Amino acid sequence: MHNLINSSNNILITTHSNADGDAIGSCLAFALILEKIGKKTDIITPDEYPKFLKWMEGNRMVHIFKGNEKYCRSLADGADLILAIDFNDPKRLKTASDILAMPNKPKVLIDHHPEPVNFADLTISETDLGSSAEIIYYIIKELNLTEHIDHGIAEALFTGIMTDTGCFSYSCSYPDVYYVVAELMKYGIEKDLIYSRIYDKYSENRLRLMGYCLYEKMTMIRPYNVAYISLTRDELKRFNHISGDTEGFVNLPFSIKGIKLTALFIEKEDHVKISFRSRNDFSVNELSSKYFRGGGHLNAAGGEWDLPLDNAINRFVKLLETYEESLK
Ligand code: 5GP
Ligand code: MN
Repeated sequence: MHNLINSSNNILITTHSNADGDAIGSCLAFALILEKIGKKTDIITPDEYPKFLKWMEGNRMVHIFKGNEKYCRSLADGADLILAIDFNDPKRLKTASDILAMPNKPKVLIDHHPEPVNFADLTISETDLGSSAEIIYYIIKELNLTEHIDHGIAEALFTGIMTDTGCFSYSCSYPDVYYVVAELMKYGIEKDLIYSRIYDKYSENRLRLMGYCLYEKMTMIRPYNVAYISLTRDELKRFNHISGDTEGFVNLPFSIKGIKLTALFIEKEDHVKISFRSRNDFSVNELSSKYFRGGGHLNAAGGEWDLPLDNAINRFVKLLETYEESLK
């Protein structure tokens, strides 16, 4: 890693589609560090990401591939090192994935998802950690660059850890995550303010959409301890949906006693996007990679299926029988 960074002047960072707090926070933190040591650094996200992540320092370095393909490809052409952060498979870049297929450019994967695809020259995979942001912190330390961490970088790293652990409610049952948080707190970051910037920035419409989901769109499959929510494009339009509005909806049914598996089906233009969440040792990573062209973590995964919406829902409901034993 040391040598790769030393011998590069022009570094491009990429992350997965539907970028979340960990994706953006990890990319920005590392990009800001690299800038401080004199590297020209850019970040490409495959598509639009939520507005509530745009307050972070360095946001100017992020370019959205979709609709801006030519410029993004020119950035990739000019790069002499490509860093892939917070995803385990080039497919997660959607149409931007050809950036990772560019020959003669060293690539480094930095990620915490299980079973990373072997496409990079160097793979730094820490599947026991709850966020990529923690890995970035350790890499900064390993490279002896901690002196360059400042308030903005600490905020970005904290955001990654906070969002990928659901505000410290999962994937953080090990001491070291609090060591990293404690170190970040020393830069004077205001934890409550960061929380508020992320979670208190939604529109009235989003809250009403959430209410609508719970009242009208949540289906319980009691025998299996499963609940799912589905939303059509028309419904999203009705509530003036914008990127990030359905964030967290998949977790809502867990507040009902006994729920072990949840799903959220969203009708997109040309496919159905699905999120899965589970409790304990039920692997939604397996469910998603086996049946929905997706993947993720043990308890949080996503995938997709072909339209119509009911097609995907029926597939899911039928599958539950297969998992009867582990769900009951
Ligand atoms: P979400 O449901 O929030 O979109 O994603 C949950 C987790 O699953 C994240 O860790 C994300 O990286 C992963 N994930 C989401 N969608 C996909 C997908 O289509 N393919 C794969 N391999 N992973 C996904
Ligand atoms: Mn992550």
